[in-house]
Amino acid sequence: MGDKVKKEAVLYAFNPETQYTCGQCFNRKPKTSVCSLFGPNDPISPKSGSCGFYVHEDGEKSGIFAPIVGVIGKLQSGYAENENGFSCKRCEYFLVGENDCMKVDKDSPGLTPGEIHPNACCNNWEADSKRAKMSTPALLELLSKAKGSEEKSLGYTRPKSEKPAYPSSGKDLY
Ligand code: SF4
Ligand code: SF4
Repeated sequence: MGDKVKKEAVLYAFNPETQYTCGQCFNRKPKTSVCSLFGPNDPISPKSGSCGFYVHEDGEKSGIFAPIVGVIGKLQSGYAENENGFSCKRCEYFLVGENDCMKVDKDSPGLTPGEIHPNACCNNWEADSKRAKMSTPALLELLSKAKGSEEKSLGYTRPKSEKPAYPSSGKDLY
């Protein structure tokens, strides 16, 4: 594993039904642009914002969300925006076709044992110059092709009965 960090050190999360944006974070007040941590004077983008304090919960559906406390500012949180959201598949450190990461040890204890899943995410996320901006269907197609070439180079053909590692469209995930 070299100098890679453990999943737990970067809060590796696996919520494949989300793009890890404020709109599905426990800290967002439902139907508003208010983050409980920043308070009402420091608005966030529910659709494209996220930060290191992301905790998955869709408060609009569940009614579960944090009370507004306003204890920190955006700069302390690592807040960033990306139009199409986040996740490993949009991160510059993700190794396409390998389910691995340049920075995080896939074999360390944590979720998705033995792999870094394209629909996982962590606090070490950095925008990939190309993949961060791609639409979700186009990106999933790219990942699917990369997985296919990897199997070919290994002399492995996936049986039709076996589920692909990546869905061919985003509708199964979001
Ligand atoms: S800024 Fe961070 S903590 Fe606040 S709602 Fe967005 S992801 Fe959650
Ligand atoms: S690919 Fe990026 S977001 Fe995913 S585990 Fe690695 S550093 Fe974190």
